[in-house]
Amino acid sequence: MKRPVFAANWKMNLGPTDARAFIAAFTARWSPRSDRTIIFFPPAVSLDAVAHAIGSRRDLDTGVQNIWTEDRGAFTGETSAPMAKDARAKYALVGHSERRHVFGETEEQTAKKCATAARSGLVPILCVGELLSEREAGDTNDVVLRQLRAGLSDVSPEVVAAMAIAYEPVWAIGTGRNATPEDAAAVHVEIRRALSERLGKEANDVPILYGGSVNSSNAPALMAAEGVDGLLVGGASLDVDGWTRICET
Ligand code: PEP
Repeated sequence: MKRPVFAANWKMNLGPTDARAFIAAFTARWSPRSDRTIIFFPPAVSLDAVAHAIGSRRDLDTGVQNIWTEDRGAFTGETSAPMAKDARAKYALVGHSERRHVFGETEEQTAKKCATAARSGLVPILCVGELLSEREAGDTNDVVLRQLRAGLSDVSPEVVAAMAIAYEPVWAIGTGRNATPEDAAAVHVEIRRALSERLGKEANDVPILYGGSVNSSNAPALMAAEGVDGLLVGGASLDVDGWTRICET
């Protein structure tokens, strides 16, 4: 994964028609460049449309927002890793805060999802982050590192070395209140330290993204923070002009 990494999490927005229109508008503005990784995470139903709209552009990738832990079967409403791969997803978000806190995803499930994604040839991006109450109680590092270690517990060091981590404080997601660059840097340093326990020097190769109310105005300062290798962007990735400016950071 080339750095910096800019990942657009569209959440439950942009069905196939709107997704195609977004990619057409973005590719009209954005000339291919090889010095960064740009990933779109559309809803699963739009994965194929986005892959087709991207066409032969090798500078743009897609990923799936969530997968289930089994490859097929009686799991109504779920998407499996092999299916996402078949729809040309290259990445899988795992443990997004909305999965954890809206849908009750457990740390055991995030571990299984990282392993399932990797087994199917998807690159997992594990999201970790504390609640406001946990930050206020001084538990940020404990929570983030517990989620990190749990999420990575079923995958080999080789898989960890090829994936990415996203630090997304829950209180910053969709609230308009981003972490300061200093807050983000402090946690990214701890994540890197924990990764190096597992990987040694190779931990430096794992991109650590910041996410939480990123926009084109705060992106430069966040990207300049120590240890921030990219951005995972929700709301602001739905506006083509704003998203283009973020990718230019
Ligand atoms: C997200 O959904 O991962 C996210 C960071 O959302 P937002 O940018 O809207 O806070």
